[in-house]
Amino acid sequence: MDESCVFCRIVAGMTPSHQVFEDDDVIAFMDHRPLNPGHVLVIPKGHEPDLHRLDEPTYLAVMKVGKHLAEVLAELFEPPKVGLFVIGFHVPHVHVHVVPLYTIDDFTADAIKLAMRRKPDTEALAETCLAYP
Ligand SMILES: [Zn+2]
Repeated sequence: MDESCVFCRIVAGMTPSHQVFEDDDVIAFMDHRPLNPGHVLVIPKGHEPDLHRLDEPTYLAVMKVGKHLAEVLAELFEPPKVGLFVIGFHVPHVHVHVVPLYTIDDFTADAIKLAMRRKPDTEALAETCLAYP
């Protein structure tokens, strides 16, 4: 664990999150500045900044949960597409974004920067979180 890492603090329960999934290796929680409602982040419990440095079982565990949550989002929101992507410039702990996408413009640098400037709507996050099975 890296105590300076917000995602490690979420894993440890030191920072609250709107969690939608947890097993031995992986947790998933609502992105507090979603590109679209339902946007979740899937992370390994262990601190690792880079996806390509995860050991293969951890990589597969993270991606398996990403696929599962994409299926959930497809059913809950019925978007034309559900996107999975990994960037990682803001928090140096691997996280896979799983996002309902309605247009290709939902996933642009401008859309991401706009979402980063929004104030988190914790009521909406809590409400969306409750919709997850
Ligand atoms: Zn971390």
